[in-house]
Amino acid sequence: MSYLVLARRYRPQSFREVIGQTHVVRTLTNALKHKKLSHALLFSGIKGTGKTTVARIIAKALNCLNLIDNYEPCNECSNCLEISKGIFVDVIEIDAASNRGIDQIRELIENLKFAPTKGKAKVYIIDEAHMLTREASNALLKSLEEPPSHVYFILATTEPNKLLPTILSRCQRYDFRRLEHPLIVKYLKEVCEKENYEIDQEALELIAKEAQGSLRDALSLLDQAMAYGTKTREDVISAFGWHEAILIEELASVLLERNLKKALEIAQRVYEQGIDLVYLMEKLTEFFRELLVIKAFPKESKIEFQTPVLRDLVFENELEDILLIFQSLVKDLEILRKSSYPQLQFETALLKICEYGKLVPLKEIIEKLNQISNANFSIPVSAISSEEGAKEKTWESFVEEIRKESLPLYGLVSSLPKPEIRTNEIFLKVSSLTSLTDSPYYKLLKEKIENYFNKPFKVEVEEKKRTNLEDVKERKEVKKVLETFSAKIAYIQPLKE
Ligand SMILES: [Zn+2]
Repeated sequence: MSYLVLARRYRPQSFREVIGQTHVVRTLTNALKHKKLSHALLFSGIKGTGKTTVARIIAKALNCLNLIDNYEPCNECSNCLEISKGIFVDVIEIDAASNRGIDQIRELIENLKFAPTKGKAKVYIIDEAHMLTREASNALLKSLEEPPSHVYFILATTEPNKLLPTILSRCQRYDFRRLEHPLIVKYLKEVCEKENYEIDQEALELIAKEAQGSLRDALSLLDQAMAYGTKTREDVISAFGWHEAILIEELASVLLERNLKKALEIAQRVYEQGIDLVYLMEKLTEFFRELLVIKAFPKESKIEFQTPVLRDLVFENELEDILLIFQSLVKDLEILRKSSYPQLQFETALLKICEYGKLVPLKEIIEKLNQISNANFSIPVSAISSEEGAKEKTWESFVEEIRKESLPLYGLVSSLPKPEIRTNEIFLKVSSLTSLTDSPYYKLLKEKIENYFNKPFKVEVEEKKRTNLEDVKERKEVKKVLETFSAKIAYIQPLKE
């Protein structure tokens, strides 16, 4: 007998056997019990979460000759058995990735009007539905709107955002979630017991982590692990070449080094391995959040790096650098989530970070400035958080509070000029109101300021004074500064009195 991969051998045959997705299963079985199942269903979710499996179970439930409790297929009658084998004439599976054209859909629509040959209902399962051409999707629309009473459509897709909005609006949508880590571990353990295969708990934990919420991936990784005779966590790492934590650290390292070439190489590898980019970006963003904490509270951090070089890089980079990368990732993660070109978007995000260049530490700037002029610049007291200052409510103590509390807010607050703390209000002069009030955190920040100081927060837009720009550019000290820092003038803003 040929070897049947685990994912196939353990494919659930009834609703009862489906792992996770309880919300989907409950709604579907209820609809079946009350004979109110929609004729156009859309299953969305990442690969390996059971979309096609559940679609086949529904097909069986609609055609089973001895339905149990009005919803559960018996898996014994001839219809159930034929559907399980994929040879039942009235259950038609179409892989839109390979049959995406108008001709297949036309043929399908032509046949809709005929009653089922053998069963009670005709079920069309269209896998990777987002791959259908626009023409084919449009042809399908009408049938989705008013399907004959014996016809059911189940569209499955990993990328619902690529479907036509008109298709989306005609289907009842079910979101298949990533399976939670403990659930996958538990399931893998059960499979290993059934297979009489001994393996460490830590090895299963790692396999589950690698699977990133996809049960099918978890099972196929377990398949490979069994083929290698893998028993321990170390075996798993060496068998698969990489694991998530190492990949994330590797990416973090090249970003901290601003090594664009390596970053793009990793992006390519990630793409070839079919890793979910949104997931990876989430993990990377979380990781940079952790790095910020390490940088801010080095003594309290307990994180253990898998790659020692990373510790040095974190040490070498300023808090501001890490904050910049983190903020950039947060922003790009949002864009990536909505993007139709995730790979391109992912690479753009990496490129942006590598192109920033490192920030020059404040101390270095002051040293250079001191070299330029004899005037003794020193770090303003406000830039160093002082212990005494923390007791009274100063702007600095407020900023410090925010830093501990929320990084996005800290990003916004640290970009502001220092406001004046008056007896009856907190007064801030800005050159443009929109850059502040446009921030999604503005309202929250205003609230925090007012709560902290117990005074209203007032913002005024500064009037621009006329300045002869060319005059400024010609000044000797300006030229010297430009030369020392090999800088360019981005904009000129008059100083306050
Ligand atoms: Zn049956």
